[in-house]
Amino acid sequence: MAAVNNQKKCCYCGGCPIVCPVQAIELVDERIAIDREKCTSCGNCVKLCPVGAMSLER
Ligand code: SF4
Ligand code: SF4
Repeated sequence: MAAVNNQKKCCYCGGCPIVCPVQAIELVDERIAIDREKCTSCGNCVKLCPVGAMSLER
């Protein structure tokens, strides 16, 4: 499992990179980049996202 960003929903608020405890999320050039190797599936980004753009997927 790892976090996945839905680019159609994401408004690039910049919140999820801040709440990720392992720095697996980066906001680069209006795109959310997730390092699947680092992600521990903690769910912080899913809970925080105001527009439901983050999910945990296999
Ligand atoms: S699920 Fe947790 S570890 Fe994975 S990207 Fe989101 S905040 Fe980071
Ligand atoms: S918290 Fe949600 S809307 Fe904000 S940058 Fe992350 S995925 Fe996008």
